[in-house]
Amino acid sequence: VSRFENVSMAPPDPILGVSEAFKADTDATKLNLGVGAYRTEDLQPYVLKVVNKAEQLMLERGENKEYLPIEGLAAFNKATAELLLGADNPVIKNGQIATVQGLSGTGSLRLGAAFIARYFPGVKVLISSPTWGNHKNILSDAGVPWSEYRYFDPQTVGLDFKGMIEDIKAAPNGSVILLHGCAHNPTGIDPTPEQWEAIADVLEEKGHMPFFDVAYQGFASGSLDDDASSVRKFASRGFEMFVAQSYSKNLGLYAERIGAINVILPTADLAARVKSQLKRLARPMYSNPPVHGARIVANVVGDSVLFDEWRAEMQMMAGRIKGVRQKLYEALLSKDKSGKDWSFILKQIGMFSFTGLTKSQSDNMTDKWHVYMTKDGRISLAGLNLAKCDYLADAIIDSYY
Ligand code: PLP
Repeated sequence: VSRFENVSMAPPDPILGVSEAFKADTDATKLNLGVGAYRTEDLQPYVLKVVNKAEQLMLERGENKEYLPIEGLAAFNKATAELLLGADNPVIKNGQIATVQGLSGTGSLRLGAAFIARYFPGVKVLISSPTWGNHKNILSDAGVPWSEYRYFDPQTVGLDFKGMIEDIKAAPNGSVILLHGCAHNPTGIDPTPEQWEAIADVLEEKGHMPFFDVAYQGFASGSLDDDASSVRKFASRGFEMFVAQSYSKNLGLYAERIGAINVILPTADLAARVKSQLKRLARPMYSNPPVHGARIVANVVGDSVLFDEWRAEMQMMAGRIKGVRQKLYEALLSKDKSGKDWSFILKQIGMFSFTGLTKSQSDNMTDKWHVYMTKDGRISLAGLNLAKCDYLADAIIDSYY
């Protein structure tokens, strides 16, 4: 008898499991709106031209494959912190930031969580309800206790700002508050600048520490600077905080696993100490990070011509998603005779639309219409094209009523 006999079958991942089910479906009309990955109008994966150019440069230079230091590629770490805060930010000028290259957003969040577990044992992290499903796994596996704060109001299909503030106020002083820097996943609803200010006020009052997850910089508004304004606001107010970054979406580097964990601190001395301890956490986990994606980011951000090309491609991607958002809304409006207000679709931002479809309605979308989506009612508009908007609207209306 096997010693593994008591190992049970794990359930499929709620997001990546959708892609597996999609692959197995042989129906020609099938549509994958599960995972948040950008597709072209022909529904094909897209490698940014600027990424190809950076890779070409790297080949020409004949770069080697030696190990990176534990903290990653220095040129990447510099570029990523500057992209986040702006190169002339005093936090950067004064060396008040500890930046360590991570295994994309997930790995960077995980490293931040490991730091919290080690240095702030028992401190609770508050996450939004709902949030990206993996946040709970990351915190739980790192041994960090968490609970939720209200975020989404199904009545208004908007932000439950009052509930959010109440729950953050009710948390024990000194808690960590996980915030999505922009383009909240899955709801597509962000606080307004005034609301961000009020959130900062409450965090300050309570001695809470922000932990920003920045997975979509550039994808909310099309502007890298505008999408970092929440983080920059908190930094300018002098908060100590964690910020995880990902280049999966904005540079389309999903499989390269490139991102960073930043800790902003009051002094350069503290930043050096925190960085040394982040390295100490990383070393036994994966030793040092992969180089390829780091070089791509460093080349693109460090070269003004490539950087401008990147911005143009990002605006193109964000623009295509806005186009299908508009078309889907119009299709729903013209087909649905019930008078339901679908304008929330236009108000949501980023890659996703949070449709309000329940689990059983989402099942109908998949079982009857071959539309693959997560069971929380989220659809990735990045996987939709103009040609399929009418079909999708029919599927949504059929599933709703
Ligand atoms: N955080 C949020 C909110 C996300 O939506 C994602 C990806 O979907 C990530 C982090 C991390 O993604 P990755 O590990 O590919 O960078």
